[in-house]
Amino acid sequence: MTERPTHCPSCLQAGSPVDRITLKALLTGDGLRRGIPAQPRFCGTADCPVVYFDVDGGATFTEAELTVRVYAKHSNDAETPVCYCFGVNVGAMANGERARELRESVAREVQAQHCACEVKNPKGGCCLGDLVRLERGRETEVTASCCAS
Ligand SMILES: [Zn+2]
Repeated sequence: MTERPTHCPSCLQAGSPVDRITLKALLTGDGLRRGIPAQPRFCGTADCPVVYFDVDGGATFTEAELTVRVYAKHSNDAETPVCYCFGVNVGAMANGERARELRESVAREVQAQHCACEVKNPKGGCCLGDLVRLERGRETEVTASCCAS
């Protein structure tokens, strides 16, 4: 095993590994034409234009090459999805009571293994932690997670 760069070439923050299937599901035609890296990583830095980068070759994919808006890049934008599987956007989480209902309903689906995070959510994983953060006014760091990983 050789040491591979795991940090985003643009913002230099650590990226999280995502499955290739996530890129296959979410890249536009132009993105797909460039080829999907063997070991893609996701950059969740809010002000960084890079969404995916290649651990090996230095290729990067920006949001323009994705078919969905990326929550991690627009977490203050009401129209941006938080839960990509069951269609909850940031705006819907603004009301505390409603936010709790939505989070609970998503949690039930997650528990029933009805989610499809690896092909729906650009970060390739569960949105539940993001929902909890929004519900609590993003004050607390939570590690609520689930299914995949
Ligand atoms: Zn980055």
